Amino acid sequence: MKIFKFGGASVKDAKGFENVKNIIDSHKKEQLLVVVSAMGKTTNLLELLINAYFHDDKENSNIHFQTLKEQHIAIINELFGNNSSDILLSINTLIDELSDILQEPAGDNFDYEYDRIVSYGEILSTKIVAAYLQMHNINNIWKDARKLIRTDNTYREGIVDWNTTQKKIQKHIQPYYNNENTNQIIVTQGFIGGTSEGLTTTLGREGSDFSAAVFAFALNAESVTIWKDVDGLLNADPKLFNNTIKLETISYHEAIELAYYGASVIHPKTLKPLQNKNIPLWVKSFIHPKERGSLITHTEQNKTIPCWTGCKSDGSTIVITPTT
Ligand code: ASP
Ligand code: MG
Repeated sequence: MKIFKFGGASVKDAKGFENVKNIIDSHKKEQLLVVVSAMGKTTNLLELLINAYFHDDKENSNIHFQTLKEQHIAIINELFGNNSSDILLSINTLIDELSDILQEPAGDNFDYEYDRIVSYGEILSTKIVAAYLQMHNINNIWKDARKLIRTDNTYREGIVDWNTTQKKIQKHIQPYYNNENTNQIIVTQGFIGGTSEGLTTTLGREGSDFSAAVFAFALNAESVTIWKDVDGLLNADPKLFNNTIKLETISYHEAIELAYYGASVIHPKTLKPLQNKNIPLWVKSFIHPKERGSLITHTEQNKTIPCWTGCKSDGSTIVITPTT
């Protein structure tokens, strides 16, 4: 089985959802676990919401809540047209649940409140993806990652309990893939997990790549593909350098260095679990899905193309680090 991960940019509008559907459709004879982030910039919006809520700023809390609701309803209307009643019902139930949370006064643990509110972004987006695929006759099963990825209670930066997580995923997900002749598509969330008490945690901003790696590790996946709005991994940040080159195949080691030193294409925590199990990671463009993309795998270090990453350390200096 393979893991596909789609980030927020791939589901930022109706066209994005359609594109994701088309990509999955062209792989629907395969066994896939699809990890999806919150739509577009929803997590940022939810951060505004949690800040307002936590500081008892009812006016802004209400404004952000309404924006969240409108954005999701608008996309559903666009995607489902006259077939929207079932998905509207399930999304409205979730929105009402969130609204109930927001009516209660916040507790004093900001990070705990953050996780239980911000996680709605991924729950909502994956419900929409699953229903949209179904509407297009792509059978799939929706699974709640909060019950599969076990973390400790370090809210906002949950530390994964690998042992329990692996057991849970093998028990609740693996059986779907046991018959290799049957195709099976599972849709789940990136970024979120849960504690042993059943409380919601998140894995750190942009953590959906890492979720994909956790699922891949637990399921001994054949490969992971991160679908992005870039053609693959570049040897430098195109915002800082001209004439960047797409890297065809690089080693885990090189990719880890690129990720840590600021080439923000893959979340840094993603690579180690894949390297440990020797699971190849593809970075491919959801705009040009037929293009090869970049492959990160067990390979000799790339000796020919120097990689450069830069970061503005104090607003004026650019630190350049060669990574080969
Ligand atoms: N939605 C979360 C974020 O924006 C996780 C992710 O996109 O990977 O940080
Ligand atoms: Mg996101």
